[in-house]
Amino acid sequence: MRTQVVIIGGGPAGLLLGQLLQRQGIDTVLLERHSREYVLARIRAGVLEAGLVDLLHQAGVGERMQRNGLRHEEIYLAHSNRGFRIDFRQLCDSAVMVYGQTELTLDLYQARDAMNATMLHQVDQVEIHGADTDKPRVSFIHDGREQNFECDFIAGCDGFHGVSRNSVPADQRTLFERVYPLGWLGVLSRTPPVSDELIYASHARGFALCSMRSPGLSRYYIQVALEDSVQQWPDEAFWRELKRRIPHDAAESIVSGDSIEKSIAPLRSFVAEPMRWGRLFLCGDAAHIVPPTGAKGLNLAASDVYYLWRALSQYYEDGDEQDIDNYSAMALSRVWKAERFSWSMTNLLHRFPEQSQFDLRMQQAQLDYLESSRAAQTALAENYLGLPY
Ligand SMILES: Cc1cc2nc3c(=O)[nH]c(=O)nc-3n(C[C@H](O)[C@H](O)[C@H](O)COP(=O)(O)OP(=O)(O)OC[C@H]3O[C@@H](n4cnc5c(N)ncnc54)[C@H](O)[C@@H]3O)c2cc1C
Repeated sequence: MRTQVVIIGGGPAGLLLGQLLQRQGIDTVLLERHSREYVLARIRAGVLEAGLVDLLHQAGVGERMQRNGLRHEEIYLAHSNRGFRIDFRQLCDSAVMVYGQTELTLDLYQARDAMNATMLHQVDQVEIHGADTDKPRVSFIHDGREQNFECDFIAGCDGFHGVSRNSVPADQRTLFERVYPLGWLGVLSRTPPVSDELIYASHARGFALCSMRSPGLSRYYIQVALEDSVQQWPDEAFWRELKRRIPHDAAESIVSGDSIEKSIAPLRSFVAEPMRWGRLFLCGDAAHIVPPTGAKGLNLAASDVYYLWRALSQYYEDGDEQDIDNYSAMALSRVWKAERFSWSMTNLLHRFPEQSQFDLRMQQAQLDYLESSRAAQTALAENYLGLPY
């Protein structure tokens, strides 16, 4: 079997790339390891930069997001039971959109169905062959049978644990990594959000975040030890700890309820360079991971998709390979800036096991500076809103 682009991974990166390419008449086959139901049940990101919002409109899948998404023009940074706002509209005349990754993924699945584009779920043993030749091929098992797709290009959109990155020979890639000694315990509950805006709280007991997915669906996080398990955190213990870390007025008005999802995510910064090997392109979490503090994971996947979509469109339009050759450098330039922002927000807002009194004073001074300086707030807002593609 043959197609133009094989996309490995049916998460947001793979689906969005497939959607943009198919709409331009470029044929894609999408291979996903899990079932559709499994992918759609994964609770992950929820803050979309304006660049991603635009891209979803360009892909023809922005309608439901526009209707149901929540436009956010500020965030609240709390520390020592007080806090201040970062006003995106005033500082940068822009906003982010709160819309769950599961909803976005559902929109993209439905759009792919409507185009009748090939999408195979529960594929196993995906292998990439000849990515450094002009005849790349992907083999896999589906419905118990081995199958093969020959193609022009392979997009490795298979997340951090996929096969694509490891298909690049070890001597052809460089990996950069920082693992943080803490995790985020996240709870989703069918309760009204405590506030219209996101509350990021720095507290002596650890970081906390009050977020949301919709007016009736709240998403809350607290920093926990990396070794903690979900079983150690029954709902009552979670709510008690969350309330201790956020400002008193928010703690008093918060509506708690049963968790409908609860998970612990480790915090990691990771980049694999380069993001291209021959005819294989890495895209999204397959190439990089950020700690979620800056809300950048999903948004970075989107900017990679944008660069790759543009490069492949150019190639199929007039054979021009310039953007293909530039893909890795262009994507990485934006990736490293978002890595820096996510790392700095993580260092600013969390408590770390080995932190000295000096380190704590540095955090406090940085928060005080942020509170009093429009220039510092503008820099934060510019990065949170997303640097241009
Ligand atoms: C638990 C968790 C919580 C997160 N929370 C946030 C958050 O609050 N805010 C934020 O901004 N970001 C968050 N992120 C990050 C964000 O969700 C990711 O950056 C985003 O999903 C990246 O999209 P992707 O398509 O590159 O990768 P993924 O979403 O990981 O998609 C990759 C897809 O490839 C499939 N796959 C893997 N291996 C294979 C294979 N061998 N063959 C075929 N298919 C394969 C996977 O099943 C998956 O569907 C979170 C991530 C995780 C894991």
